[in-house]
Amino acid sequence: MRGLTKLAPGPGNLGLADRPEPIALEGHVVLEVAAAGICGTDLHIADGEYETVTPVTIGHEVSGVVTEVGEGVDESWLGARVASETYFFTCGQCAFCHAGRPNLCPERQSIGTHVDGAFAPRLLVPVANLHRLPDWLDAEAAPLCEPLACVCHSLLEPAPAAEPGAEVLVIGPGPVGLLAAQVAKAAGGNVHVRGTLRDGQRLTAAGGLGFETSTTEEPPVEADVVIECSGSEAGMVAGLAAARRGGRYVQIGLAGRTVALPFDLVCFHELRITSGFASTPSSWRKALELVAERRVQLEPLLTEVVPLADWERAFAATRAAEGIKFVLAP
Ligand SMILES: [Zn+2]
Ligand SMILES: [Zn+2]
Repeated sequence: MRGLTKLAPGPGNLGLADRPEPIALEGHVVLEVAAAGICGTDLHIADGEYETVTPVTIGHEVSGVVTEVGEGVDESWLGARVASETYFFTCGQCAFCHAGRPNLCPERQSIGTHVDGAFAPRLLVPVANLHRLPDWLDAEAAPLCEPLACVCHSLLEPAPAAEPGAEVLVIGPGPVGLLAAQVAKAAGGNVHVRGTLRDGQRLTAAGGLGFETSTTEEPPVEADVVIECSGSEAGMVAGLAAARRGGRYVQIGLAGRTVALPFDLVCFHELRITSGFASTPSSWRKALELVAERRVQLEPLLTEVVPLADWERAFAATRAAEGIKFVLAP
């Protein structure tokens, strides 16, 4: 089986390589991968900026069909259309695991970084990670459930970041920003989405989802809740300045480096800064609920389904912020 594999640490060292066929272990299932989304983390892995245990097939946003079940797994899973959480192993013993926060388990191992991931025809995952998809949801759009679960964790846990009626500013209209805007709206927020001049297509998509938009060429927008999804230094600086006194600032975007920020504003304006790392089982349930109730739309974010063999083109397009979300189909 050929998978898109990080072969060794450092920049590059990424390509299609022969990988072992997954075998359904006890408590696990094998998925026939339908589609797997390319995310910023995959670009950081390609650049050698995000730690992996090599060689490893990358990819962690996945939808597929259960084709094999291991010992102890209910056979009713066979043939199910699913999305999967990204954890392959957590200790189950630590305080975080006990509190339903396996994302913080120090022994956590994830698909696409520690064990083989989703940019391959087949994938092994624990059955506890599976979430059934609504029948009507496109398998190609369904990998977006993963970033949606991450957004739900950052914005809804332990309590919604935006109160009903709050003015919310989302900075960075990439896939995560467009999901965050929809989650904030579902929580009752009045959402404005802001980007740069090169975000034209993404801001058009935001407009299509019913959001007010602006670019950094236009006057600043203030808000009670600022959700920073660009991961750029400029976005973070503008976001801290845009948060009203007593407001909330949520950092979701990753800079991948140390940045210089006007942190005194946190004191002067009594800002509350929060974030979230990856997702939790409860944030996945919230995400799937929002999808099932059609309060979050995934399809408008899907730009193109690209064959696995053409991965380089899809990675380049993601890097250039062309379109919104590219998924690979093995
Ligand atoms: Zn991701
Ligand atoms: Zn643990």
